[in-house]
Amino acid sequence: MRVIDAHVHTWSREIISKKDLDARRISAKSSGIQPQLDSPVTNLVTAMKRAQIERAVILPIDSGLNQDMPLSLQEKTDWHADEVKDDDSLISFVGLDPRRGKEGLEELERAVRVKNCKGWKMYPPNGFYPDNEDFFPYYELAAELNIPIVIHQGFTSRFKHVKYARPVYVDKIAAEFPQLKIVLAHVGMPWVSEALMVSAKNPNVSVDISGWQIFASKTPHKLYEMIAEAKLWHVFPNRVIWGSDFPLFEYAMRLEKWVKYFANLKMPDSFLDRGYQQITSEEIEIVMWKNAARLFFGENI
Ligand SMILES: [Zn+2]
Repeated sequence: MRVIDAHVHTWSREIISKKDLDARRISAKSSGIQPQLDSPVTNLVTAMKRAQIERAVILPIDSGLNQDMPLSLQEKTDWHADEVKDDDSLISFVGLDPRRGKEGLEELERAVRVKNCKGWKMYPPNGFYPDNEDFFPYYELAAELNIPIVIHQGFTSRFKHVKYARPVYVDKIAAEFPQLKIVLAHVGMPWVSEALMVSAKNPNVSVDISGWQIFASKTPHKLYEMIAEAKLWHVFPNRVIWGSDFPLFEYAMRLEKWVKYFANLKMPDSFLDRGYQQITSEEIEIVMWKNAARLFFGENI
């Protein structure tokens, strides 16, 4: 089985803010793990090899309008772009807050045309609703550049605001810009039905299942229910994309285990008895490889 991890992160304590480091310490304490203050690309590549993941998509986050960042917006784009430039298995997005106005628009274009970034990662919990019409020039530009947008949805860290991360605030963009490819991260968890509804009504909207190893490890029925609902809306399998959010959920389920778990995923009898269909290996291949190969790596499959 060929696998793309469509949602991973890299950072070092030199490039993130003091506040983000504090947030990492707080979340580590509540999960009972050591804080992850660095996540170098070498760790990612080692974990990918162990898990037999062929490719991964790095999604940087722009928190520069909220926090004192050690790097400028442009330096941060370059830091991530340089990290992947000699490795064909990796691509990087540009992290951009659309409240940056003209500077942000210029950076979006530079990141894609000059630095070879393959998409735009947006992080609304930094304090904005994505469907603000002031941001429409960004969506026009993203459509013109023919790049996908991955939008963080749902659960967020201590100092961010979760109210901005509801899938319903993406619906207007998806409807107004039908040519724009949008991915709702984490299936909007906990607003799963809302994410699936936005995806169901907009054929240009997909969902990624990064972070769902938390449920797989503890309460797998939630994963089965999500897939059953996604099937009902015809979102599964063609608009569901596999990912991990590496390294954030390694404490819940290691990357290689998450790959194996999903590659062998079967609906339990209790679901089949209620009329749900079994998951096929073709569907798994679409979710773990084909959708991301098409959307992020420009393959015609
Ligand atoms: Zn993430």
